[in-house]
Amino acid sequence: MTEELAGRRILVVGAGSGIGLATARLAAARGARLAATVLTAAERAALSAEIPGIACEPYDVTDRDRLQPVLDGLAARLGGFDAVVYCAGIALRTDYGAMTDAQWDRLMEINLTGGARVLRAVLPVLQQSRDTPGFVVISSQLGTVGFRAGAAYAASKWALNGLVASVALEYAPLGVRVNAVGPGPTDTPLTAPSLSNPVVRAEMTAAIPMGRYGQPPEIAEVILFLASARASFVTGQCWCVDGGYTAR
Ligand code: NAD
Repeated sequence: MTEELAGRRILVVGAGSGIGLATARLAAARGARLAATVLTAAERAALSAEIPGIACEPYDVTDRDRLQPVLDGLAARLGGFDAVVYCAGIALRTDYGAMTDAQWDRLMEINLTGGARVLRAVLPVLQQSRDTPGFVVISSQLGTVGFRAGAAYAASKWALNGLVASVALEYAPLGVRVNAVGPGPTDTPLTAPSLSNPVVRAEMTAAIPMGRYGQPPEIAEVILFLASARASFVTGQCWCVDGGYTAR
């Protein structure tokens, strides 16, 4: 076991499945002290059973009123945070002309506004860390290119990257790093509905130079590097982990 994150206090928001769950698992395996939010009580029970000692709360990122109490409670359990990772997100695949306002609003609230709100709330806590603190948000390779039938999703991720670059400038002199990771197509519950269609899966796979989907632990590696003190000179970036998708 590599304990390179030994004792590092890490909060993962949206750790119930997919990339967030892989990040929590890898951080725990590397000795981090972990706090997490998940969406459901069942996910909390599963994560608490798998990672003994984790401080875990169910939290819906659209619930503005509960954010501060939930963060305060988790920060108190760990004595603060050295890194915070925002993994909550939803996908929407629909032609732009057919999209409803309600679909747009919900996607922006979870993917963009929820992340922006968590970032603003944890900045003062991260500033207290003496160990190269960092915030990492999960953007997407679609935060750097367009995607047919994915306009709202891509817009939310481009906006996240703009947020990251701008807040990074503001907080660089204050010692807090702010970065994004842009996964390419990755096997998670998010992509499972479209990938169960063999035609869609073949089309998407053909667009990935490495010829395969990413696995959540491969994304978690880069997330945790950026969240660690080893990335001490990295801020304001979106690092794509996409099998070469955006290199074309
Ligand atoms: P996932 O569905 O397994 O994870 C998304 C997580 O967000 C889930 O744990 C879910 O509970 C949580 N979530 C959704 N709505 C929430 C809400 N209202 N409040 C709190 N939590 C909520 O899928 P994933 O692929 O692991 O997605 C994680 C992030 O990675 C997302 O931001 C997604 O856009 C991004 N991403 C995924 C891919 C991919 O191909 N899987 C590619 C690029 C970016």
